[in-house]
Amino acid sequence: AEEVGGGDKEVVKEYFNNDGFQRWRRIYGETDNVNKVQLDIRIGHSKTVENVMKMLRDEGSLKGVTVCDAGCGTGSLSIPLAREGALVSASDISAAMVAEAEKKAREELLEGKDELSQGFVLPKFEVNDLESLSGKYDTVVCLDVLIHYPQSKADAMIAHLASLAENRLILSFAPKTFYYSLLKRIGELFPGPSKATRAYLHAEADVERALQKVGWRIRERGLITTQFYFANLVEAVRA
Ligand code: SAM
Repeated sequence: AEEVGGGDKEVVKEYFNNDGFQRWRRIYGETDNVNKVQLDIRIGHSKTVENVMKMLRDEGSLKGVTVCDAGCGTGSLSIPLAREGALVSASDISAAMVAEAEKKAREELLEGKDELSQGFVLPKFEVNDLESLSGKYDTVVCLDVLIHYPQSKADAMIAHLASLAENRLILSFAPKTFYYSLLKRIGELFPGPSKATRAYLHAEADVERALQKVGWRIRERGLITTQFYFANLVEAVRA
């Protein structure tokens, strides 16, 4: 039974506003108060961010390109995107995450200078569940969020994100093939009373099918792994 009913999203939100916020802020940060597993995940995740930046740059300059970063966390992707001139709309279901992302963006991008003189626009931050996002963006990115969605809900989530994208949709998710390795990190890092039921892995074929259903195809795919971090990265375009 993958389906846990309507309470899942509330549990995720509560987690990322409290314990999960503290934990993931450290993992996604730079300070050395992380354990070995967390450090490994930090390294894996930063590789994902680097790979996404590469995928995005392949199409040319990011200047003026509109990007929606759905489930932005502490801004790991939004900040480098803005630095390269992208017009970023960053949102997350967790108000704590959004506040942290905004603070980091100001610190890292402005460094005491004003916005205009820097030649970029600060990301626009918003507390929002990704299902409630609207608008049109050249590119929609959603990194490491699908782990909170059972496959039954992932299809609708992917369809909604695709509907917001004019050109590209980039997703990363924990692949089902690494189930046993991933179990190691679940106990500590995922929300919910029964933690093992709260992290959802996805088969690449299932994600691909969800994209095909709404008229999209995968153009590029990648796999990022360290000892404790596993992510499939897909870039989809209209078929
Ligand atoms: N995308 C960021 C990154 O890669 O640095 C953060 C990844 S973090 C593992 C997952 C994030 O997804 C959390 O910040 C969480 O609050 C957010 N999230 C989970 N479910 C969400 C939803 N339904 N809508 C928006 N954000 C969500």
